[in-house]
Amino acid sequence: MAYQYDLFVIGAGSGGVRASRVAASKGYKVAVAEGSALGGTCVNIGCVPKKLFVYASEYGHGFDEAAGFGWSNKGAEFNWSVLRDNKTKEIERLNGIYGNMLGNAGVEVISGFASFVDAHTVSVDGKTYTAERILIAVGAKPFIPQFDGSEFVVSSNEMFYLDALPKKALVVGGGYIAVEFAGILNGLGVETTLAYRGDQLLRGFDQDVRDFASEEYRKSGIDLRLNTDVARIELADANDQNGARIVHFKDGHSEEFGLILYATGRVPNVDALALENAGIETGKNGAVKVDNNFTTTAGSVFALGDVTDKIQLTPVAIKEAMALIDYWFDGKEVDFDYDNIPTAVFSQPAIGTVGLSEQEAESRGLDFRVYQTDFRAMKHTLSGGTARSLMKLLVNNADEKVIGAHMVGDYSGEIIQGLGIAIKAGATKADFDATVGVHPTSAEEFVTFSANALKERK
Ligand code: NDP
Repeated sequence: MAYQYDLFVIGAGSGGVRASRVAASKGYKVAVAEGSALGGTCVNIGCVPKKLFVYASEYGHGFDEAAGFGWSNKGAEFNWSVLRDNKTKEIERLNGIYGNMLGNAGVEVISGFASFVDAHTVSVDGKTYTAERILIAVGAKPFIPQFDGSEFVVSSNEMFYLDALPKKALVVGGGYIAVEFAGILNGLGVETTLAYRGDQLLRGFDQDVRDFASEEYRKSGIDLRLNTDVARIELADANDQNGARIVHFKDGHSEEFGLILYATGRVPNVDALALENAGIETGKNGAVKVDNNFTTTAGSVFALGDVTDKIQLTPVAIKEAMALIDYWFDGKEVDFDYDNIPTAVFSQPAIGTVGLSEQEAESRGLDFRVYQTDFRAMKHTLSGGTARSLMKLLVNNADEKVIGAHMVGDYSGEIIQGLGIAIKAGATKADFDATVGVHPTSAEEFVTFSANALKERK
């Protein structure tokens, strides 16, 4: 049967843009449907504007730290609307670049949200399109638990377009987005409380990293409250929807905040897709089920990125798209390696991590040793700041390979990228030792770990 397109992509985010652009450049007839701005979450309401906000908020501490280096910081003032609007202009510029990239590659961009009619047909605004293959790349959306007053909170989506910054904010959650936005708000001068329901933030990260980062967040001025849950929320003045909110915590105390951000996870964005029309099955939290070749239960439909139950990171979605292209064009079975994916949390200080945590290495029954150090970075000798950095390296005793690297401190996102290559390439502790350090940097600690830094493990 003749289809209108070789490939129809639903969602022009990181994975969808890559797949459609490369498929078109290889000769496929491709269309991509997008109901919002081109670039998806990462470009519009995620990684990119978030990082711009992080840069902005770092000046908050930077002005204080500059005094020790001889600078006067008198008169420095922050204007939220300038930051917000400059950010929006930059994002619009990027939207244009994405449009050009797709256009130049010959991809037809269809504006609107698509839903399935059958396994080869989608509908956008009442018009149907047929394709030999359909790719679901719609990403995820914020999850906010429903409770009495949950309508008075915002998600990360709204944080990028706030009319004004509050004097006092509550961030709920303990994952990437919660700690990143707590850092942003705190750095921009907002009195910030971070409330997490469990014993320690950042579940899944190395325990020392979690403990160390939490302490640093506290030192930077965030009011961190662990084992803290919200019971209900109400407006301070029932007639003022935009006014202060009163949060009643489960421990019985109540407090007023100008803004409440819930950063309590993200769920696959599948509600409007009518997946059942194409026989596409979903699993936990509505994630689209795929096999190793990103093929859904409808053989002609594929899915990748945050809409599947894998790792919710932009570079993962992009790499998955490239693997899928190889599968389609070269028949190469996909064998995507989800191990040793480096990642950074752009909190303040930032966290960089790749490979196994100490707890993961233990649960795998590995015989390994840990090198660990923490120190005050050179910058803070004059800044007067009390921030410290943590570095940690895990080495497998059986083959001497480095199996994990973790850092909390300035530039750790940048530093961990290089270590990711070394670990992916199977570097041993001897390879690290044979590498000459770059001096004076924090990063050089990773190649100068000696027996003195061995951690005594329980
Ligand atoms: P995460 O899954 O990282 O964290 C969700 C947090 O919310 C957890 O601390 C969780 O607690 C808590 N939580 C979940 N449900 C509730 C509830 N009902 N009440 C209170 N707390 C709750 O999600 P995020 O939203 O922070 O981020 C989503 C994903 O996006 C990340 O996992 C990451 O993959 C990606 N991301 C990556 C970034 C980066 O690369 N720098 C930046 C931002 C996002 P608990 O641990 O107890 O379950």
